[in-house]
Amino acid sequence: MICKNCSAQIPDGSKFCTVCGHKIVVEPFVAPKPQQPPQTPYTQIPPQVQQGQVPPYNLNGTQQQTVSKNTALDAPLTVLDFFLMSLLSFVPIIGFIFLLIWAFSGNTNINRKNYARAALIWILVSIGLVILLSIIGGGILNSMT
Ligand SMILES: [Zn+2]
Repeated sequence: MICKNCSAQIPDGSKFCTVCGHKIVVEPFVAPKPQQPPQTPYTQIPPQVQQGQVPPYNLNGTQQQTVSKNTALDAPLTVLDFFLMSLLSFVPIIGFIFLLIWAFSGNTNINRKNYARAALIWILVSIGLVILLSIIGGGILNSMT
């Protein structure tokens, strides 16, 4: 080993330099510490992007507090949201009412609103088809009698 003080070649394991008498500090072979100190895992504050991004079309910001889950009206809905939403929309009458509320309420998530409008269009189309078919069917029945 080499003395740090005088750079003389000294026997390994010496506690003092045989040339200059400098005390040899034997550095223990410790595994090099990682550059990054051990961070407390995953305590990063989640970015409050959703609260910051207030959609410009949201003019009534006070009602936004009633929506606890999705602070931003254009926040993406979760799978569970879509699941429950589609489930509810299949419930007769109640689902239709909910669809109306979602479709025309100003304080509704944009995804929910679009889904509700699409579902309402389907309902209107199906109602129209039923009426159309009943008219055609009635006409056929009338022509048969
Ligand atoms: Zn020395």
